[in-house]
Amino acid sequence: MKKASKVINVSDRAGRESSFTKEVLGPLVGMKLTISRMAQNLTGQISPTISYPEERRRYSDRYRGAHILTARQDGTPRCVACYMCATACPADCIYIEPGQHPDPLIEKFPTRFEIDMLRCVFCGYCVEACPEEAIIMSRQSEICALARDETVWGIERLMRRPELKEFGLGFRPNDKLVDSALAVTPKVKQAEKMAGRITLKENVEMIPHVTFDPSPD
Ligand code: SF4
Ligand code: SF4
Repeated sequence: MKKASKVINVSDRAGRESSFTKEVLGPLVGMKLTISRMAQNLTGQISPTISYPEERRRYSDRYRGAHILTARQDGTPRCVACYMCATACPADCIYIEPGQHPDPLIEKFPTRFEIDMLRCVFCGYCVEACPEEAIIMSRQSEICALARDETVWGIERLMRRPELKEFGLGFRPNDKLVDSALAVTPKVKQAEKMAGRITLKENVEMIPHVTFDPSPD
């Protein structure tokens, strides 16, 4: 014969608690937390708000912000127009037109490379798909435009990134290989010349460093 399941009557248990605990201690414990939070706020111990845009929170080094097209030492894009990023993109917002590269070892380069920033969902799949470290992300989250066509970023816009000194790098395949180099403050003359363009050092094996400094170590 099937055993009857045990029934717990919670209303009975609630009725057994004294009215002092329910009606006095409970609210006091709640009030203690409220008052302690208020005191911490008033004394500045915790500050849940910041004065944006004068103050900004520091986002993770893996933040998925606006993209960067990385460059070779000669300033040309590292991209070999393989379409891996465009194929992986779930928002279908990357447009590439390939051209024949004069160097037969490189074969192709993009004559046109565009990302529609309004369609992009900043998932980072393009970065993960790229076999050349040619596309990485920054921590730039503020993308403003006065016209729709300004939200479609072409090669020039994706490569020349003066904002990076303020925002820094975001999601990329191997953060160990880029951060220390980016911490280098460019010399004034070089900073003007580079205007925030990212250059990869070719002499680092596999995944090169990204740096503002165009001179080799
Ligand atoms: S971040 Fe995602 S949505 Fe944006 S371009 Fe890359 S793959 Fe497409
Ligand atoms: S950015 Fe990378 S994945 Fe996209 S076309 Fe260029 S080389 Fe290929």
